[in-house]
Amino acid sequence: MAARVIDGKAIAASMKERIGARAMELREKGRPPSLVAILIGDDQAAASYARSQEKHAKEAGIEFALVRLPTGTTQAEAAEAIERLNRDTSVHGIMPHMPMPRGLDGFELQQRIAPAKDVEGVGATNLGLLAMGRDALAPCTAAAAVECLRSVVPDIAGRDTVVVGRSVIVGKPLAMLLLAANATVTQCHTRTRGLAEHTRSAEILMVAAGVAGLIGAEHVAPGTVVIDVGTHRVTLIDANGKEVTRTVGDVRFDEVLPLASAISPVPGGVGPVTVSMLLENTLRACEKSTS
Ligand code: NAP
Repeated sequence: MAARVIDGKAIAASMKERIGARAMELREKGRPPSLVAILIGDDQAAASYARSQEKHAKEAGIEFALVRLPTGTTQAEAAEAIERLNRDTSVHGIMPHMPMPRGLDGFELQQRIAPAKDVEGVGATNLGLLAMGRDALAPCTAAAAVECLRSVVPDIAGRDTVVVGRSVIVGKPLAMLLLAANATVTQCHTRTRGLAEHTRSAEILMVAAGVAGLIGAEHVAPGTVVIDVGTHRVTLIDANGKEVTRTVGDVRFDEVLPLASAISPVPGGVGPVTVSMLLENTLRACEKSTS
């Protein structure tokens, strides 16, 4: 039987509807949830991402503003912009766009964001709370991957789950979220021996390796639920011998589809849900704030 293909766009749309209803209540109380993105320099991909964020935020009833700073902005000036937003009680979420121009330390700037406004969940406080199993603003991509998983496996307690990848913003928080949901978690990385043996033992396979097409049929046992976090723009030669650009994941979708019981596609899987997760975190930050 062919796998159920997880519809990330539909999940994201229904999240936005729920967020919109809660945002309306806050608006009526005079506390409109507000997200501010910071874009330093002229990276075209980041600028286009910021435009798409604005559209999604508006659709969900979240106020959105973009602070644009020029390429020559110093670390101190960027830090001051963040501190100003930290102090501004009408702002509930702050999100600096990456990559930053050469010479700026993006990590240092992210760590300056007040934990209550760290809606990307990338600060040490939120990651620490997550590791402690406490209420935290979780990193959006990791939380989105779990949201996709829950759409097909609502109760993941006790499930044998393998995470491929251990980055600070995706793999590690993903494992922590799964542990918090009582899954049994194995985490694989580049030093793992016998990757396929581990992945074949999984009931649930979550892939965030950042390697296009890493996971194929040889890695997946029949009936596995596969969530692909990877996103890559690749140039391929199509059937007519023409060069085409495509977005692909870490999983060879066509190979794994006949084996999996459910699978998230790329594009259209975790990606759209990640955008909604940022709005969900902004809403939660607003609900928890006193202003
Ligand atoms: P990253 O920082 O490069 O981390 C990749 C992780 O995968 C590392 O822990 C690495 O192990 C592990 N890995 C790499 N090659 C491997 C292999 N052959 N076997 C086993 N493990 C391997 O990447 P990331 O930031 O976590 O992102 C992962 C993917 O998610 C990327 O494709 C990225 O574009 C995508 N992403 C998607 C979204 C979204 O919204 N959908 C958002 C963010 C990121 P080591 O630790 O040993 O090096």
